[in-house]
Amino acid sequence: MLKEKRVIRDPIHGYIHIDDELIWNLINTREFQRLRRIRQLGSTSVVFPSGTHTRHLHSLGCYEVARRMLEEIKNLGECLNEREKRAVLAAALLHDIGHAPFSHSFEAILKHHHEFYTVQIIKGPSEVNDVLNTVDDRFAEEVAQIIDHSHPNKILSQIISSQLDADRIDYLLRDSYCTGTIYGKVDLDRLLRTMRVRDNVLAVKQSSIYTVENYIMSRYHMYWQVYYHPTSRSFDSILKSLFLRLKDLHEENPDIVREYPMYKALLEKEILNNDEFFLLDDETCSYSFNLMRNSSDPILKDLAVRIMDRHLFDYTSADNEEELIRHCLRKGYDPRYYVVKDYQRQIPYLPYLGRGSDNIWMLMDNGELRELSEVSSVVGSLTDLNEQDERVFYPKEIMK
Ligand code: ZN
Repeated sequence: MLKEKRVIRDPIHGYIHIDDELIWNLINTREFQRLRRIRQLGSTSVVFPSGTHTRHLHSLGCYEVARRMLEEIKNLGECLNEREKRAVLAAALLHDIGHAPFSHSFEAILKHHHEFYTVQIIKGPSEVNDVLNTVDDRFAEEVAQIIDHSHPNKILSQIISSQLDADRIDYLLRDSYCTGTIYGKVDLDRLLRTMRVRDNVLAVKQSSIYTVENYIMSRYHMYWQVYYHPTSRSFDSILKSLFLRLKDLHEENPDIVREYPMYKALLEKEILNNDEFFLLDDETCSYSFNLMRNSSDPILKDLAVRIMDRHLFDYTSADNEEELIRHCLRKGYDPRYYVVKDYQRQIPYLPYLGRGSDNIWMLMDNGELRELSEVSSVVGSLTDLNEQDERVFYPKEIMK
């Protein structure tokens, strides 16, 4: 324990409270500090200019929600031992430590999801791993197990990653506040007051059914209005094309890494080690795009200018792809980089058949546990809603 409790000011939670030295030491590792240089919402700020908050702040917020869950959910504290409580708070803090630049759009380029690098950093070698090892040599493994859902106590993973968890609650509240949208409001205080552990799963009392329905609707609206906004997907399409071009150029002439040494490992290896991964952040990428403004390759140069100066692609229905390819060729643009298809899909709420702890459970007045969509006709009707959106992105000049 710290001699004196530390607090960090936060616009969403007021204060983030830290009294365990382990958490304080994790915050002060170089891998956690790197998250200051990773924006939470990647390209979303091309649409919502104030949405430039970082993974660093969201990770602290996720920790704070998890901490409040342990403290305020009536019988949760007594279901977990002290070691499990420390492990779940460390997991909440570290759950996004493996995030690449530009949020999820970079995952396609890295070929691995952020969870892969999160677990790799936790298991080390890394400063994070050194700090976790101060507890004992099994502790890092247990934190990793909470993140990859292999921990035997399923309730620990449910706290940070299920369908109603500390991660989602913090990002909905924070992303709506920071973008200035009003869809993501979640009544956290009421949820915490009415959550209970029953049969080793977290459940919400029946009396809070409207709070849970509102949470599901908030999430649904945030996805289409903010996270899948077509303008930020346009930015992501250009980003994908730029890295595709870089990869193609590297195959022709591996010397290109001399001009962009920050991408040496990315271009040459399937899996980056922790030191190589550490150097990739939003600021490194922005610097590289500025270098590419002077590239002798006209495609790389054009794509970098588009990213930095927000000269985005237009978009239309994916049905027009063939026609766009023809226009592209007519205007002398290579459709490999200038016609980009993107597909997004969202199911507002899906009851899981496999991992039961991933469901949202309602604790009925008669003491029975029931899965949310069986109890709420509003959510029940949403489980059939499988909204898909396929678009194709292209430079508007080709249509002139
Ligand atoms: Zn997160």
